[in-house]
Amino acid sequence: MKIDIEQLVRTNIKALKPYASARTEYKGSAQMLLDANENPYETGLNRYPDPLQMTLKKKIAELKAVDESQLFLGNGSDEVIDLLFRIFCQPGKDSVITLPPTYGMYKVSADIADVQVKEVLLTEDLKINVSEVLKHSGENTKLLFICHPNNPTGNAMEIGAIKELIEHFPGIVVVDEAYIDFCPAQSTTSLLAEHSNLVVMQTLSKAWGLAGIRLGIGIAHPEIISYFNKVKPPYNINILTQEKALEMLDQKDSVQIRVQEILSQRSWLIAELNALANVEYIYPSETNFLLVRVNDPIGIYEKLIQQGIIVRNRSKVVRCEGTLRLSIGTPKENQLLIKALKAME
Ligand SMILES: *Cc1c(COP(=O)(O)O)cnc(C)c1O
Repeated sequence: MKIDIEQLVRTNIKALKPYASARTEYKGSAQMLLDANENPYETGLNRYPDPLQMTLKKKIAELKAVDESQLFLGNGSDEVIDLLFRIFCQPGKDSVITLPPTYGMYKVSADIADVQVKEVLLTEDLKINVSEVLKHSGENTKLLFICHPNNPTGNAMEIGAIKELIEHFPGIVVVDEAYIDFCPAQSTTSLLAEHSNLVVMQTLSKAWGLAGIRLGIGIAHPEIISYFNKVKPPYNINILTQEKALEMLDQKDSVQIRVQEILSQRSWLIAELNALANVEYIYPSETNFLLVRVNDPIGIYEKLIQQGIIVRNRSKVVRCEGTLRLSIGTPKENQLLIKALKAME
């Protein structure tokens, strides 16, 4: 199916005359900047940031093997998700599809935007129910959120199912790859060349170790990116974030070493958890966390809290009944976690 992107965009967004910031109107090298009511005295941060983050985008484009025109940077993936709703979803009329159990932010953003969420459960073996998704799709179903690998279950989705949905879903397919750097599966960015209705989301919050700077990445066809740029707040990525991101992207090798360490710690944790009588099942994970079914989730959760160890209680979540979600910590943290769990046996 060939998707007409423009037809999916809300009428008010198509008609929108975006805010023209002083720095987007003037491009060139200036002697004096007296156009933006900035304070002239140097603080290191007295100037507004580059609204389109061109230096940072150049580096990310190289790293992801995409063109700069295919990149949007957001104040975390959260902003990318929020803008998708603003661009494509008419409040009170349009709907989106999510695949529970999955990341909670899709539904929160939908609720804020007053957009209906149709939930199509993953199958019992945590795969996408493709035919059910397509059955729920229609003219007003604008977005489909696929989390790959999925939070909180930890599994990667089948690439064949993702492809089938990109080809047959009548709206935009959003593939959230927050954990892709922990996963051997290839990024779905390779599908962008042939499909204009795909938005891939990545982030510096997990493998890159920069949750605190808030940098989310949207990768899509330039036409979609142009709508992101139209609706985004003019200076959405601050200078400190841009600088820190550039610094970290230059340290790819040490980031990779830490990712490997997290993965080997994950193997260690799996072996240790498997030896515990309280542990019933460990979900296969391609991420930096483990979803673990235990015999007494609430009791264990609370006993861990008493020892200052906070994990995520997912025991009431569909398909995750009885589980706790554990982020992989440092070797020392992981040892303390196992020690605490052993003491409860
Ligand atoms: C952690 C996470 C993100 C990251 O969100 P940011 O706003 O970029 O920090 C995105 N999606 C999923 C599924 C996550 O688990």
